[in-house]
Amino acid sequence: MQISRLPIESHETVLRVQDTEIGLTGFIAVHSTKLGPAAGGLRMRPYASEDAALTDALRLSEGMTYKNAAAGLPLGGGKAVIMGDSRKKTTAQLLAFANAISTLEGSYWTAEDMGMTPQDMELLARETKFVAGLPNGPHASGDPSPITARGIFQSIKVTAQHRFGSPDLTGRTIAVQGLGHVGTYLCALLHEAGATLILADIDPKRVADLAHKYHAEIADPDSILSAKADIFAPCAIGAVLNAQTIPDLQVSAVCGGANNQLATTKDADRLHARGILYAPDFVANAGGIINVATEVLRIDDRDTYVSDKLAAVETTLGRIFDRAKTMECSPARVAVSIVDEMLADRAA
Ligand code: NAD
Repeated sequence: MQISRLPIESHETVLRVQDTEIGLTGFIAVHSTKLGPAAGGLRMRPYASEDAALTDALRLSEGMTYKNAAAGLPLGGGKAVIMGDSRKKTTAQLLAFANAISTLEGSYWTAEDMGMTPQDMELLARETKFVAGLPNGPHASGDPSPITARGIFQSIKVTAQHRFGSPDLTGRTIAVQGLGHVGTYLCALLHEAGATLILADIDPKRVADLAHKYHAEIADPDSILSAKADIFAPCAIGAVLNAQTIPDLQVSAVCGGANNQLATTKDADRLHARGILYAPDFVANAGGIINVATEVLRIDDRDTYVSDKLAAVETTLGRIFDRAKTMECSPARVAVSIVDEMLADRAA
């Protein structure tokens, strides 16, 4: 196996990992360890080129620095990618990649991401101790989705407080796009809180089942973006807020779980110009990494830790909205500048 360091200025460490005999090519990107060991998942996808895989690792690892910092976690940002079809991954590839992770001696902790399963994490753990998201063990954190949904639910209430003057969701209409792990748990919480739901998913059975359960309206996957509601909660894919979709939105606020909801940073300004309050995704959906953090940091009283961190996310989001109001700019821009300040303070 060949492990080479790539000199990339924006990142602390970037490793290219290759073993041609077992068909392994991947990258480990450590964006920042200023706030603690870098943490972020391992993704496996059939990337079109090495450049595309490296770009994804660089972009995602930087995103993790912002997410972890905004959540008040003593963790930095990192991410790893393996090129290839995840359905064809081999034990030899995972064990070799685990060895590459170990060479960073704990400055990067991995976890499950797209194309990986808890069982894959168990395999990695045979060769490296710097892995979270294990299905079993004294500090195993399990499926992060319920905690992610809890964080989004609380963030929706903060968003409602700032947009409508009350966190009460009784009678509020919420349009949820994507009814997977996160969306399903979120719908349960919203329904319980008295919200009226409009639901969309590309899986018709999933929408029909949940719509029946929660007496919700069904929208098709395209029209959910122009559904008339109080809040839009994107919980499916990235880049759904863009120059084409933003003019059609018929909501007062956006707060959901999907990663990278804005296609570009300009889209934050487009939402702001339309008077739509946007809860920055990396703040609202931090529940997942908070859950993983309990494993990385070997937290014994997990429930208390998670509740405290989720409460801190609520406070942070409220501060972001307050500052954005004063500065008359998008909360997304404020969220980024708050983390930049935290990192600069740590460097000083
Ligand atoms: P998932 O794969 O379980 O669910 C995604 C759902 O979205 C599926 O039901 C899928 O059919 C649906 N979908 C896909 N494309 C769609 C479209 N165009 N329109 C409507 N529905 C569509 O994923 P998940 O774990 O629920 O995660 C959802 C989002 O939240 C992702 O962006 C993920 O990166 C992000 N996220 C998840 C977690 C977590 O804890 N799972 C944590 C942080 C962020």
